Amino acid sequence: MEYQVAANALDGKVILVTGAGDGIGRQAALSYAQHGATVILLGRTVKKLESVYDEIETAGFPQPAIIPLDMLGATRQHYLDMVDTIEQQFGRIDGVLHNAGMLGVLSPFDQIEEKAFDEVMQVNVKATFLMTQALMPLLQKSDDARLVFTTSTVGHAGRAFWGAYAMSKFATEGMMQVLADELSNTSVKVNAINPGGTRTKMRASAFPAEEASKLKSPLDIMPLYLYLMAPEGINVNGQCIDAQPK
Ligand code: NAP
Repeated sequence: MEYQVAANALDGKVILVTGAGDGIGRQAALSYAQHGATVILLGRTVKKLESVYDEIETAGFPQPAIIPLDMLGATRQHYLDMVDTIEQQFGRIDGVLHNAGMLGVLSPFDQIEEKAFDEVMQVNVKATFLMTQALMPLLQKSDDARLVFTTSTVGHAGRAFWGAYAMSKFATEGMMQVLADELSNTSVKVNAINPGGTRTKMRASAFPAEEASKLKSPLDIMPLYLYLMAPEGINVNGQCIDAQPK
């Protein structure tokens, strides 16, 4: 399917992107801003967020905002405070792209260390859950809100050595489905994207020997990311969609 949206499809929208400093999240923030959205850039490395901020400003897109937050250590209170800040500053939120994620260590199952398991689950699942819960009252005030989760091919078919990462992506798809069903009669649409192999640092650390130039870039997969945030995608709910279908 061709995912096409109008050039100004996201005019007036406020969209939060997690992991906005690098890789797919960085590109999504730029693309959302290019289509008219005010983007809130959340991530843990302030320098990277500032560089995306500057790029958006230089391009003349709506002025973004930065939320520095390490999802490994953040508690429920951090997310509640974050939502207060967003409400005070913007008065609304229309979209959330849950993109931040960690790969952890790929290893045989019996060698997965408890600490490494906990960290992957904390960032990929629990932090995403707590953030979503905190954001929900504000999201529900929007007359057309979108929640987009990020999964992986190993999030719907387990694969040897992908350990905690694969398990965390199964949980992410579960979270998306539960929420989409609960909210199916509301103005909040909930979906997940499987980016497929994409040229980023995470991909390079999972496949160090791969020739990166053969992979799609984050920009190549943006049509789906835009579609699920835009009016054009309003009828999609509860789906897990491949950005690079076979
Ligand atoms: P990436 O280049 O490693 O970017 C991940 C982003 O998440 C970075 O900006 C990173 O911040 C941020 N992040 C990681 N841990 C965080 C934490 N504790 N708190 C706040 N932010 C944190 O990875 P990517 O390839 O773009 O991946 C984006 C999403 O797509 C992930 O959910 C990943 O699982 C998924 N995915 C990617 C592929 C692929 O081929 N690339 C395939 C399937 C699924 P820093 O820059 O500060 O580290």
